[in-house]
Amino acid sequence: MSDTRFREETDHRLEDVDAGDHDRFAHYVMGRNPSAKITDAMVNGKPLRALCGKRWVPSRDASRYPVCPECQAIKDRILRKKA
Ligand SMILES: [Zn+2]
Repeated sequence: MSDTRFREETDHRLEDVDAGDHDRFAHYVMGRNPSAKITDAMVNGKPLRALCGKRWVPSRDASRYPVCPECQAIKDRILRKKA
């Protein structure tokens, strides 16, 4: 229950397009208004920073990718701390 707000802020799955060195993952992004950040990043082509520290340019079509395990672990840790 207490993690609802956090979930809203972070549950945006985004495509990893950074260098193509790894499999494609959906990363979480943190912040007050990630939707605005993501829109801005898509419009301007500016990379965002994911929870795991990876920088990437978001795309609209990332929901078919698996969630980045590092982002997931960090998010779980934050949620545990908040609980
Ligand atoms: Zn990640």
